[in-house]
Amino acid sequence: MICRKFEIELKKTMPDLLLDPDRAPAEARAHVEQCADCRGELAALEAAMSALDGWEGVEPSPFFDARMAARMREERSAPPAGWLARMRARLEMGSNRNLRPLVVGALALALMIGGGTYAGLEGFNSSPSVTPAAASPTVRDLQSLDENSQLFQQMDMLDQSDNGADTGSR
Ligand SMILES: [Zn+2]
Repeated sequence: MICRKFEIELKKTMPDLLLDPDRAPAEARAHVEQCADCRGELAALEAAMSALDGWEGVEPSPFFDARMAARMREERSAPPAGWLARMRARLEMGSNRNLRPLVVGALALALMIGGGTYAGLEGFNSSPSVTPAAASPTVRDLQSLDENSQLFQQMDMLDQSDNGADTGSR
């Protein structure tokens, strides 16, 4: 049977009772002294914690540091390729690279249609001063799309230089 006081308040103060008894409320300390249930819980927690301490005490193998340093040097010597390759893999969402130009094309088309509609509406209002400002978001989007496609091309080139086996012409 679990002590009711434990369920209500001692559960929260258990770690304090164990690690920093001075911080735990005096009432909780006094209760644990006279309650077998709560003493049992405290002992179980203590056992779990010392088990964790033992686990954390495991030393890494002597070669770990050397391997880690070598791995870091590798990463540092070729950061753009690794980073771009990962980014590219993310953007492509898998290996379906045939879909990509289609998606970019559809986006460009949607932007052109949207921009055209917007410009047409502006024409009805006949306020020429607004038109350049209205066109600029579309222009900006198209420019960023263009930059994105350039990025994709660069990524493709990097990918091909990465592994000679995969020429990328499937
Ligand atoms: Zn109790």
